[in-house]
Amino acid sequence: MRTITLEEHFATPGFFEGPGRELKNRAEKVGGRYANLIARLCDLGAKRLAEMDAAGIDMQVLSLTAPGVEQLAAAEAAALAREANDYVADAVKNHPSRFAAFAAVPTPAPEQAAAELERRVRSGFKGAAVNGHNRGRYLDDTFYWPLLECAHALDVPLYLHPTPPPAAVLDAYYGGFAPLLTEMLAGGGWGWHIETAVHVIRLIAGGVFDRFPKLQIVIGHMGEGLPFMFQRLDIIPAAVTGLQRQFKDYLRDNVHYTFSGFNFPPAFLDLLLELGGVDRIMFSADHPYQSMPAARAFLEQIPVSAAAKERIAHGNAEKLLNL
Ligand code: MN
Repeated sequence: MRTITLEEHFATPGFFEGPGRELKNRAEKVGGRYANLIARLCDLGAKRLAEMDAAGIDMQVLSLTAPGVEQLAAAEAAALAREANDYVADAVKNHPSRFAAFAAVPTPAPEQAAAELERRVRSGFKGAAVNGHNRGRYLDDTFYWPLLECAHALDVPLYLHPTPPPAAVLDAYYGGFAPLLTEMLAGGGWGWHIETAVHVIRLIAGGVFDRFPKLQIVIGHMGEGLPFMFQRLDIIPAAVTGLQRQFKDYLRDNVHYTFSGFNFPPAFLDLLLELGGVDRIMFSADHPYQSMPAARAFLEQIPVSAAAKERIAHGNAEKLLNL
């Protein structure tokens, strides 16, 4: 069975001089697993391919690792996005059957972001990855709509990846604990996912999908908690939302969902039941933060037909990304 993973990360040396500086500092202080993580993020060659082979992963769709360029000023974001896209384009060119890529785009400058997306898609990129809010502003803000309009026109998806919440939210929600507990609650233990779910809700509530009805967003982590809330959101009447359809309609027609290390059967079943089928569910591992072999083993176990498993493993991605 062919396997394509969609939330797989890389970084460039330049990233570690900018938004990745903190990780680099930790690596210099602590070494060990942080240094190893940096090496694995920057490697788009033999070592990564060997890990993929060992795990049974045929193709990775790559994206610049979080926090991406989204917390930078416009000029820095544009420069780093260009550098990252050049870096990953080389890897795709060298290994076209093993790698594809989502572009980094300078979201703080939406017109430029749209231009970068268009240029990269014309050279083979499959869409863009956006790492959440942009210094506290979300993509439902019409300021960003040139980027959304461009993705819509090019018929490519935006992969919406988690990031920590804005500082005021982080303090109010997760402050008051030991620093590491605050950090992990605001991050991978909870906050990243709630943050991303809220971002998707904002896109819907802001009328993005009424304006761009074919736009497709991809989110990871088995739906970032949203499947549990599909039904509940629809207690908000149309007279209040002003939207053409109900929340769950957009969640079923404008969003795709990947695993990204959520190898949890109840979460998978909830997503499957809320979507009513596998057409929008896609495999991913979240390499190098999560284990490719564990993701691959989970894919084997999910309780769906062989044909449905093929859709999740590769068929849906091939269709959405034209692979
Ligand atoms: Mn990730």
